[in-house]
Amino acid sequence: MLPLGRYLGIRVYLHWTFVFAVAWVGYLGWQAGFDTAQMLGMQGLLFVIFSFVLLHEFGHALAAKWFQVETREIVLSPIGGIAFLVGMPRSPWAEFVIALAGPLVNLTFAGIFWGLDCGLGRAGLWGEESNFLGYLLQSVIQVNLILFAFNLIPAFPMDGGRILRAALAALFDFRRATWCAVRIGQGAALAGIAYGLVRPQWQLILIGVFVLIIGNSELQRLASEKEEADLEPAREECHEN
Ligand SMILES: [Zn+2]
Repeated sequence: MLPLGRYLGIRVYLHWTFVFAVAWVGYLGWQAGFDTAQMLGMQGLLFVIFSFVLLHEFGHALAAKWFQVETREIVLSPIGGIAFLVGMPRSPWAEFVIALAGPLVNLTFAGIFWGLDCGLGRAGLWGEESNFLGYLLQSVIQVNLILFAFNLIPAFPMDGGRILRAALAALFDFRRATWCAVRIGQGAALAGIAYGLVRPQWQLILIGVFVLIIGNSELQRLASEKEEADLEPAREECHEN
């Protein structure tokens, strides 16, 4: 893994498989017959997307800090970012706030850039012809809205699934809430994989498989763990794309 530095005391890494994402984007551009400038633009968009994925992860990390939960590290991979939280308490409220904090970061940025876009447009900076800054602002708004909406899909361990478990845990006990959230998530994952196969969209397939596997391991962990354990094992993942 490539270390990208330490921010707010949290180490950030880029997973080596990221070269596949860069290669894939390059392949798509080549297939579409793009010139060098357009190819660079596509790689730039990849950079923009993952910059906001990273900020999303820091949203989780800062919310976790508020609950005295440490973030060991943040890893960026082609299928999304993962914040490794240590010592997550079994508290629906904490899980709800920490899971929601990531998507809220994206919603906030979408709002800020939308405001900027409107402000600049009103100031007469936009011409009739599409200009680069306008295009960039629109892309950033779209990227953030997609990250916001996609992560709220109730597919545990994605944020929406964690929010769902937290809500269910307020109604039932934690075990039943987890079981329901995992099964709903796996249903969503199967639908995602089917859609990914039809389109075809490899990233969606990988995320679906990831959701299925993590869901199963969560159910196994639940089945094997002792009743008196008050803390979850020192690893909790937040995933997004
Ligand atoms: Zn997230």
